[in-house]
Amino acid sequence: MGYGALRLKGLTLQLNSIGCLECRPRYLENLKSYYSSHADSLCPDCRARFSRSPLRLLDCKNTSCQGAVAGAPRTLDCLCQPCHSHFEELRSYLDRRAMGYELNPHLVRGLDYYTRTVFEIQPAEVRGQSALGGGGRYDNLIEQVGGRPTPAVGFATGLERIVANLKDQGITPQAAPASQQVFVVSADEAGEKEAPIIAAAFHEANISASSTSGDYSLKSQMRQADSSGSRWVVIIGSTELSRDSVVLRDMAAASQQEMPLSEAIARIKGATP
Ligand SMILES: [Zn+2]
Ligand SMILES: [Zn+2]
Repeated sequence: MGYGALRLKGLTLQLNSIGCLECRPRYLENLKSYYSSHADSLCPDCRARFSRSPLRLLDCKNTSCQGAVAGAPRTLDCLCQPCHSHFEELRSYLDRRAMGYELNPHLVRGLDYYTRTVFEIQPAEVRGQSALGGGGRYDNLIEQVGGRPTPAVGFATGLERIVANLKDQGITPQAAPASQQVFVVSADEAGEKEAPIIAAAFHEANISASSTSGDYSLKSQMRQADSSGSRWVVIIGSTELSRDSVVLRDMAAASQQEMPLSEAIARIKGATP
């Protein structure tokens, strides 16, 4: 279940990109040369960060460091071309989902294995420094611990904070669906870009859904759909996109039909006890 399905109001998604192994060293050099002229005014924590974990200079909350933080160079201005395009593509996904976000140039993660996107979900009323959740990509982590290069993303979330915010807003969350209901498969590249947007539309309707990411044939996606135990498969490709529709396949009845997404959502909701 996503934060959206909890119906919490006033959440903000904060976003930044901290670059990759190619562009970050250059950024850190800029950052350190900037901070070396502010050394006298820094708090003891920041003096230690300067050599140990310079990115974290940016998220110091001490009043004495705020002047330095405000004028610091931004990671977004130092991204290499691939990191820049990646961030633009992410933003275009968020725009298409009409998901608001704020760029926060001071949002960082201290650990070296983080790459590119970092994010935090801030509650309506900020309780001290507590985000509801946060995380980022770590595309180099698996390789660093001896595995094959594997793109990855992860996040942590505070369950107590979520419950406290639900109570504050007088919200009783709906029960999560007991099992996965929908698997979204893509028929071609255009469909692959659309699949996560469609899965998100199901989440908004409190219907559990997932999609594959990566290069899988339609056949292999259908196998994944089958083993996920989903009752419904939604197929999307350029043909459906051009007609503003999806193909909804009922796995139990082994039948399928093309229809607008809103109708597919209504039909699945109607069939769920
Ligand atoms: Zn880069
Ligand atoms: Zn500081």
